[in-house]
Amino acid sequence: MFTREEEIKWICPQCGSCVTSEIYTYVSAAEEPQSTQKILDTSLFRMKCSRCGRTEYNTGPLFYADENRKNFFAMGENVDAAEMLENHISLGYTVRCVPEIVDLCEKILIDQDDLDDRVVEMMKVMNAVILKGQAYDQMLYAPDEDTVYFELIRDAASLGRIPFLQAMYDDLSERFQEDLKNEDDETEINAEWAMHFFAEHYRPAE
Ligand SMILES: [Zn+2]
Repeated sequence: MFTREEEIKWICPQCGSCVTSEIYTYVSAAEEPQSTQKILDTSLFRMKCSRCGRTEYNTGPLFYADENRKNFFAMGENVDAAEMLENHISLGYTVRCVPEIVDLCEKILIDQDDLDDRVVEMMKVMNAVILKGQAYDQMLYAPDEDTVYFELIRDAASLGRIPFLQAMYDDLSERFQEDLKNEDDETEINAEWAMHFFAEHYRPAE
């Protein structure tokens, strides 16, 4: 049984009460088929103050395993779980460490669309070049009905969307197919990773 819940105590920032909540620390999609959806709608993280009703969110650490899709995602700042991550890599899982709920949701959405998150991160770097220095905090993979976008977020609000170009995805996947094979142990896949990857492997077209 991988799934585990724990009681945590927290101080409500609104009324000062000490609240006890039951939160997930480990969750398996095979054991808890609803968990993936509950992560995406954030209900899995919600903690409610019994006195004033204020809602807060558990920020981790949370370990999420999807045994069917062979994903193992660790969420939280400075998660210390090297051994568990190594084990899952050796079992053939795609292992990712992400800082926040929004990043975990993004990894799940990318996987649900059968895309390689590394190529998606490379696209974000390409998009940033096209956007020529427009200021934003995050660029998120954002599927919507039958169209896919990247959504630009600043101060927790949307600045707008840019289209996900399948041709760009296909081109990058093909072009860096070989180099990506050497990155299988890499667990922190984000825009920073993509910039380093480009710096190392990008060669201008001849
Ligand atoms: Zn309260």
